[in-house]
Amino acid sequence: MLRIRFHGRGGQGMKTASRILGSAGFHAGWIVQDSPVYGAERRGAPMSAFTRLAREPIRERGVIASPDLVVIADETLLADLAAQPLLGCDTRSTVLMNTRKQSAELSPLGAVSREAIFAADFTALALETTQSLASLSVALGVAAARLLGLSLSEALAGVTDELSPHLSAERQAKNVALAQVAYARAEGWPIIQERQTTDSPTLVTLVEVAFDPPTVAAPSIYAISNSPERKTGNWRQFRPVLHAELCTRCWICFVRCPEAAIALDAHDYPVVDYDQCKGCLLCVHECPTHAFTAEQEVR
Ligand code: SF4
Ligand code: SF4
Repeated sequence: MLRIRFHGRGGQGMKTASRILGSAGFHAGWIVQDSPVYGAERRGAPMSAFTRLAREPIRERGVIASPDLVVIADETLLADLAAQPLLGCDTRSTVLMNTRKQSAELSPLGAVSREAIFAADFTALALETTQSLASLSVALGVAAARLLGLSLSEALAGVTDELSPHLSAERQAKNVALAQVAYARAEGWPIIQERQTTDSPTLVTLVEVAFDPPTVAAPSIYAISNSPERKTGNWRQFRPVLHAELCTRCWICFVRCPEAAIALDAHDYPVVDYDQCKGCLLCVHECPTHAFTAEQEVR
C-alpha cells in the first residue's frame, strides 16, 4: 500500500489534491481511499488529507501515521505545532514541497534526507497558468501522481473527474494545462516504490477522555477576548497592501475582515494589523475600488 499525507491551509485545495490523486490512482487500477481532516474549518488554518492506494481492499481508516509521501503545500507549516507535517516520517518517506526556495537551498527535514525532498514553486506555476491560487490542488495532486508513477493520462483523468462538475469549460482547460505543466515539472524525479514489507503503520492508541467543563478543559479558549493572543499572521502566503489613493473610505474591508485585522486610522483609512491578518484576501476581493492588492510573502 502507498500512503500519502497532504498538509495545507484551509483554502489551498489539499482536500481536492488528495481526491485528484485518489481518482488518478483509481484510473490506474488501484484500490483507493481518501479523506480529509479539518479541525475547526477556517480559511488559513492547518488541515490534512489522506490518500491510500493499494492492490488489495483497504481496511485501514483515518489518519496516516507512517507516510510514504508527504505533500506540503505551504512550508510555513513546518514550524507550525498544530500541523507537524513531518510527524511519522522515516528514512523511507519522501517529501513533495511547494516552495520558492531553489533546490540548493533545501536542507534535510528530520529523518527525510535531502535526496528524498522534491520541491518546486507550484504557487507560481498555478498563478501563471490559471491565475488562481485554488489551482494549487491540481499542481500538487498531479505532481504527487507523477511521483507515484501514474501516467499523465491517468493524472488528467483524476483532474477531470474532480473538477468537471464544478468548473466552466474555460477554467477546466486552464487546469488541464496546469496539470500538464506540473506533471512535466515532476518528470525526472524518481518514482516512489511500494514498501516491500509486511509491517503495518504505527497504530495510534485510542484513549477515552473524560469531559471537563470548558473552564477547566480549555481555559485559554474559554477566556474572554483572548483571540488577539493567537497570532494568525504566520498563516499568510499573500499580504493585502493598501493603495490609499484609490481608497474611498467606504469601510467595506473593515467590516468584512474575518479576523478583525483591519482598523481605521484617524482619517478613516484602513490599517492592517499584519500580526493578525491571515491572508485570506477577502479585503482584496471585496474592495470595490481595488484599493487593496495581494503581494506574495517572502520568508
Ligand atoms: S473596501 Fe476599499 S475603498 Fe473601502 S475602505 Fe477598504 S480599501 Fe478603502
Ligand atoms: S486584512 Fe484582509 S487578508 Fe487579512 S485577514 Fe483581514 S480580510 Fe483577510
